[in-house]
Amino acid sequence: MVRPGIAERLSRMIQLPTVSAELDQRGAEPFEDFVRLLEELYPRVHERLERERITDFGLLYRWRGSGDGAPAVLMAHYDVVPVDESDAWTHPPFAGVIADGTVFGRGALDDKGPLIVILEAVENLLATDFVPPRDVYLSFGGNEETFGGAARAIAATFRDRGITPWIVIDEGGAVTDKLLPFVAGTAAVVGVGEKGIMTVDVSARGDAGHASAPPRLTAVSRVAAAVTKLTPGTFPAHAPRAIGRLLAAVAPRTSGPIRLALRTLARAPWLTARVFALLGGEPAAMVRTTVAATMQSGGTATNVLPSQAHATLNLRIALGETSAQVARRLRRRIGDDAVTVTVVDADEPSPESATDNAQFALIADAVAVSHPDAVTVPYVMMAATDSRHFHRFTPAVYRFAPLSMPGDLRATIHGVDERVAVDALVAGELFHRALLARLP
Ligand SMILES: [Zn+2]
Repeated sequence: MVRPGIAERLSRMIQLPTVSAELDQRGAEPFEDFVRLLEELYPRVHERLERERITDFGLLYRWRGSGDGAPAVLMAHYDVVPVDESDAWTHPPFAGVIADGTVFGRGALDDKGPLIVILEAVENLLATDFVPPRDVYLSFGGNEETFGGAARAIAATFRDRGITPWIVIDEGGAVTDKLLPFVAGTAAVVGVGEKGIMTVDVSARGDAGHASAPPRLTAVSRVAAAVTKLTPGTFPAHAPRAIGRLLAAVAPRTSGPIRLALRTLARAPWLTARVFALLGGEPAAMVRTTVAATMQSGGTATNVLPSQAHATLNLRIALGETSAQVARRLRRRIGDDAVTVTVVDADEPSPESATDNAQFALIADAVAVSHPDAVTVPYVMMAATDSRHFHRFTPAVYRFAPLSMPGDLRATIHGVDERVAVDALVAGELFHRALLARLP
């Protein structure tokens, strides 16, 4: 029932350099070739599903179900990030070399691997004449990495047609063996929300003049003082529901005082928020809005008082907060009327999808088939995915690619020697097949 050759098919996808950030140099050819390659590799999908092209870079397939329940939407993107020519790859990034049971190349994990396991599952199910009990859509975008509009246009198409999906699954979490320190074993980590992102300009003006008789504060020192006030504690810590669920789910895998600590934290979100905030780094970023000063400018000459100065802040907005609240808090914290805080752009955080519903249980059931050793747990994503366009009007959005990404492999995403094990692809196909076969 399962077609052999999944590694060879992924290899051919990798050989098409669909680098969205280099569209101007490379042209649209690789993207058109990719669309044609899908037609060649997945004949049943293209015979039985309806395909629409939405904008130049959006592909939407509809697999009609036997019932009229709200549809399932499986998402992925087929563009990739550029390769730094000076990096030393074991195999050339766009050669699609298969060696040692592994497929090498840009996009193997992000996101052609996750894309191929969806198509393989559908093609294999079509071969058995399976008909899903509700519509299934496949939504593939070709400009996710450049924040392009394909996924937004596809989501808008659903909204215009009055269709609210029953479930949306996109990239994000994966099957990992490094979930938390002290916790052994593998976990299928499912993103149930993603933080918002915001760019803020902090500026001050001053009277230009000779620097030999300066005022107490120049525009540059005002901006510097403002930025210095923005410590991690600027924003309150709150633990999203997902964190409590995660801790409760992994507690049985530990023992002794660790188990007790995890169970205690799982029951006390306020305590979790404080502990995670104290830990700093990623744990802290999970429970609060973060702020990073990323750029600074001002002044025109070494001996002239600056008439203006600017700093740029990059903020990641915690779930449950809004960009307006964050801007208010920044202004209060800076507390200097001579400093102007301007929101340059903002993408609000997503709502948090439930974990006590049929959709999350379906994902966990499919994981139990494809990755029987893994416990399925929710988490909150720091990065943005295409699925955020659906989250505005769809309550059940989950970010999970059913590929095993042990230890160091995750770092190869957007990095050097991106690769995926053929076994991981086989298990990934099984996940989607199990999920589709169990759709209620
Ligand atoms: Zn991606």
